[in-house]
Amino acid sequence: MASIAEREASVFMRTGVRVPITLVRGEGTRVWDDAGNEYLDFIAGISTDNLGHAHPAMLQAIREQSEQLIHVSNIFYTVPQIELAELLVEQSGLQQVFFCNSGAEANEGAIKLARKWGRQQRDGSFEIITAQNAFHGRTLTTVTATGNPAYMDPFGPLPGGFVYVPYDDIDALRAAVTDQTCAIMLETVQGEGGVNVPDPAYLPAVRALCDELNLLLVLDEIQTGMGRTGKLFGFQHYDFRPDVMTLAKGLGGGVPVAAILANARAAVFEPGDHGTTFGGQPFATAVALAVTRTIVDEEIPAQVAEKGERVQRRLRALEDTQPAVAGVRGQGLLVALVLHEEIAADVVAAARERGLLCNNVRPNAVRLMPPLTVSDDELDRAVEILEASLEAVATSK
Ligand SMILES: *Cc1c(COP(=O)(O)O)cnc(C)c1O
Repeated sequence: MASIAEREASVFMRTGVRVPITLVRGEGTRVWDDAGNEYLDFIAGISTDNLGHAHPAMLQAIREQSEQLIHVSNIFYTVPQIELAELLVEQSGLQQVFFCNSGAEANEGAIKLARKWGRQQRDGSFEIITAQNAFHGRTLTTVTATGNPAYMDPFGPLPGGFVYVPYDDIDALRAAVTDQTCAIMLETVQGEGGVNVPDPAYLPAVRALCDELNLLLVLDEIQTGMGRTGKLFGFQHYDFRPDVMTLAKGLGGGVPVAAILANARAAVFEPGDHGTTFGGQPFATAVALAVTRTIVDEEIPAQVAEKGERVQRRLRALEDTQPAVAGVRGQGLLVALVLHEEIAADVVAAARERGLLCNNVRPNAVRLMPPLTVSDDELDRAVEILEASLEAVATSK
């Protein structure tokens, strides 16, 4: 019989490169392939499987809600949707929520919200300033917000209204604001861009700039939200709130669900402005409610802060023994091991052979994003595997 790779090649649109293993089962931080090999999953669905695989609270919510009601139209009230909205409002200090299905869709909606706000509240302004090396999604508008030419160029004409500035540079941001600007849209840590953690003064200064010039601050917390950085939301490392925040990835713990949150000032959607068939359905929001309650009730963000320090300290220690290691970037359990050379892909492959799944977020940076429930032993084991992998790559050259 043909291999799964051959079958894929004949029927599946090639939009990315596959790692040559087929995963069939997961439990906690571990996953197994179809040959029975076990791996530590330090990709976690790209910061999505935040409670690990097959978490009992998720399985219970999946079982109970699927027997009760999976989907009905948003023309009806449903309970899990409103309970999840109440919990997110309570935890974020923002006021209103809209649910959808993916990160790109949440950002697309946030962009519509910002444009409507600009039209109504700021003399018809419509431009949104985003950062270089950002990632906001793959729809036509969010790929334009992302500003990466490789992702954009084949798909023109693209929507207008985006301006790009270097990340973590408040002067560049100030200089880019015009009468046409309505919003600034940023990640609190750039995830796909290489785990770029800004100077602690940057985001508070952006908030102050938005207040001074009457702009909306839109934070894309799709990768940083839901406990990943050691706080429930990345902005909670600081003493301010955004006007708009988007969530996806970890919100459903692996079940597709996303959200736009806004404060009263920014929540300008009215009946007819926006909509979705699947978004906010009872099934997805019941699972997200169980995931979010678990993260909040078990105080997982505080544990993430400790575990993040532990793994980052151990990775930093590799600088002494592994000449290839240049340093570590990270916040909580969103971590990148930075290398002097562009050998991250080789290190990732060597780690996979030794039972650790991680990915190269830059040619010289290996990203580690385990489930938030990862144990100290698993963190230590991952660092050991990385050390052995660095040694193997060094000797093979
Ligand atoms: C993954 C990601 C997105 C896009 O989410 P999708 O669900 O893949 O559409 C947007 N912004 C950030 C910061 C992300 O990490």
